[in-house]
Amino acid sequence: MGIFKPTMYKKSIFDIDYSLLKGRGITCLIFDLDNTLGLIDNSKCPLKTKRLIKKLQDDFLIIICSNNTKRRLLPYLKELGIGGVSLSMKPATYGLQKIKKKYNLKKKEMVIIGDQIITDVLAGKRFKIMTILVDPLGDKDLKITGLNRKVEEKILQKYEKRGLLKRGNYYE
Ligand SMILES: [Mg+2]
Repeated sequence: MGIFKPTMYKKSIFDIDYSLLKGRGITCLIFDLDNTLGLIDNSKCPLKTKRLIKKLQDDFLIIICSNNTKRRLLPYLKELGIGGVSLSMKPATYGLQKIKKKYNLKKKEMVIIGDQIITDVLAGKRFKIMTILVDPLGDKDLKITGLNRKVEEKILQKYEKRGLLKRGNYYE
């Protein structure tokens, strides 16, 4: 199985069966921020996202793990009343390690949910936790992410040929 292949692949955070995750022993949902919880342009957390996160807080510990700055992350953390790691250096496992330690979690309780194969999914795979890929909420990316997308396209082409992963072919 490929290093970039996520455990699950869903259209968005609104399409994930969270009760299934709970049933599999997941207690902590770790979300990417940009293009997963909100658009690059959403300086504040979108209402739809807020509603979902608030609901999920009944069942899960919710954390944001972002490669973006503290300044970008803080309005989301405040609005949602949750914890998070900025400058998390995904695909390095630094941010995930920090979260695991701080909240005293086991790897089998953690899932990372994000829109990028070469940061979110790869970080999760390297850390050996469950990974969920979602499609990006919008077309607009940070500059660095624009470069990542080109690499991602190449990976997706290869994976599609091998029958591992194809855009729009969701699974769980
Ligand atoms: Mg993202």
